Amino acid sequence: MKVIDKIRGCVSVSAEEGSCNGTTAPHGNVVFSFEFFPPKTEDGVDNLFERMDRMVVHNPTFCDITWGAGGSTADLTLDIANRMQNMVCVETMMHLTCTNMPVHKIDHALDTIKSNGIQNVLALRGDPPHGQDKFVQVDGGFSCALDLVKHIRDKYGDYFGITVAGYPEAHPDVISPTGLATPEAYQNDLAYLKRKVDAGADLIITQLFYDTDIFLKFVNDCRQIGIKCPIVPGIMPINNYKGFLRMTGFCKTKIPPEIMAALEPIKDNEEAVKAYGIHLGTEMCKKILASGIKTIHLYTLNMEKSALAILMNLGVIEETKVSRSLPWRRPTNVFRVKEDVRPIFWANRPKSYITRTIGWDEYPHGRWGDSRNASYGAPSNHQFMRPRTRDKKLHEEWVVPLNNIDDICEIFSKYALGKLRSNPWSELDGLQPETQIINEQLGTVNLRGFLTINSQPAVNGQKSDSPIVGWGGPGGYVYQKAYLEFFCSGQKLNALVEKCKAFPSLTYLAVNKEGTLISNVSQTDVNAVTWGVFPAKEIIQPTVVDPASFVIWKDEAFEFWTKGWAQLYPETDPSRKVLEQVRNTHFLVSLVDNDYINGDLFAIFKDI
Ligand code: FAD
Repeated sequence: MKVIDKIRGCVSVSAEEGSCNGTTAPHGNVVFSFEFFPPKTEDGVDNLFERMDRMVVHNPTFCDITWGAGGSTADLTLDIANRMQNMVCVETMMHLTCTNMPVHKIDHALDTIKSNGIQNVLALRGDPPHGQDKFVQVDGGFSCALDLVKHIRDKYGDYFGITVAGYPEAHPDVISPTGLATPEAYQNDLAYLKRKVDAGADLIITQLFYDTDIFLKFVNDCRQIGIKCPIVPGIMPINNYKGFLRMTGFCKTKIPPEIMAALEPIKDNEEAVKAYGIHLGTEMCKKILASGIKTIHLYTLNMEKSALAILMNLGVIEETKVSRSLPWRRPTNVFRVKEDVRPIFWANRPKSYITRTIGWDEYPHGRWGDSRNASYGAPSNHQFMRPRTRDKKLHEEWVVPLNNIDDICEIFSKYALGKLRSNPWSELDGLQPETQIINEQLGTVNLRGFLTINSQPAVNGQKSDSPIVGWGGPGGYVYQKAYLEFFCSGQKLNALVEKCKAFPSLTYLAVNKEGTLISNVSQTDVNAVTWGVFPAKEIIQPTVVDPASFVIWKDEAFEFWTKGWAQLYPETDPSRKVLEQVRNTHFLVSLVDNDYINGDLFAIFKDI
């Protein structure tokens, strides 16, 4: 979706800015966003994605990724933008500059993000390449952001939302050594900004500033000359004294004397500088919000604490109150925004699910949507590779000597009790919050040889804004059937199947590595295991158990015994054999208790 449409939907904009399109505002009516830049190392990229995952939980309206100076990070920026939109599932805006970019390269970048379902570009001229003073247009390229905006509109019509840069103190090129632009240069800059908007830009993000009055005057001046689109203030929390001086020096930003006076005595104390940065950022945002502007763009410098602390101070986000629009993170890719039904099997592996379903013509959608689709992509090798940080955690927690199945039960039980954070079958950090409702029972069944990899407790009409099981926003009620997915031996499965005869509310699907399927349901029956009832809406049923997808999922699930876990051990380690043995002899079982009111899913495991 275009960021401008989200902003117009969230903020009750003034009449001149357009009308609200009825989209629900996630944070009262304050819109906030986070900017990141491409890290230099692979580890840095891994860490950035972990950080983004944590930050995106707070529902920013969008996140953006910069284009390295001179196009130096083109491929990485394109890759990160793709992963942000499609794996992190946050509305993504990619920066794009004209520096060193002939038009075919620009089009390649735009075609790439378009095919990846991204609809937002921040169109920039860029700075001169390293070692050059003046911006020189590359052969076959553009000389300024205005030309880039025109080109995007000419070639791509209305597909992209286009954002441009605005400079409250005028562009640094026209700021003299005294620190000020002449009134004429400032007015020229404004007039040029208006041309960028008139050419098709629909949003302005400003350069960083530390004098809020300058920003407010700039907005007023823009309005005076007829710039009507939202102007989003770019806020850069001060994290570090030297970095702050470097950045403001480079951008020729005015620093009010009281800020220098506050920093001077604490400049060598990084923690104190950070705390002051949070205080200052909070006060600046308060003043901006009080003026009626309801958008805040945070230059995070790839750090999370200060940006989140400012938003918490403003009451825009709450650590304990994270709202989910669905039990799983809703996709932002323009091609799959309607998707609202998923098989439960990938609940802990959402990125894998997205990868395996990329390019479907249609995604399961709606109460009567068909969740089955024959065209799941094959699990690829990279799906079993984890970011290095996670791999390290798995090494620490899961690479222990394994002599027999009891050792395996022990480690699964520890995970279910929340004593470990990593798990070869999960992309997530730790258990889902709702698991705390049943983790004692999970701990016990794991010790009995039912090695759980997915679960959910029964829920019978809890408020949809419940912090643990809620989703879909306030005003509704959510329901779910108790669900358990585990590996167990053939012998245990036989005992379970026998006992199920006395528990008519239980339905199960079991399959071994070879594909032998045992179940007490029809292979065409799809079982809704999570649903919600909301005011003036159809019933929403976002999670289902369906046999067709289960058979697809099992290949991935079985592979984790070897590729996900055994391969973490040295090649000759006997633990590998124990794990392979389990993979070859165990069944993967999906068990639902359909009595979500009086059922007790764990009762069946007694005495097995
Ligand atoms: P332009 O809009 O083209 O303007 C630059 C200056 O030239 C202005 O003073 C303008 O008035 C003047 N000008 C240009 N053309 C004309 C004309 N035809 N007539 C009159 N005046 C004209 N840099 C990166 O390398 N990567 C990034 O990801 C990046 N992200 C940024 C994000 C934001 C929000 C901001 C504010 C800056 C960002 N920059 C980035 C820096 C930016 O590239 C530089 O500031 C660059 O020098 C100017 O880019 P621009 O798009 O503002 O240029």
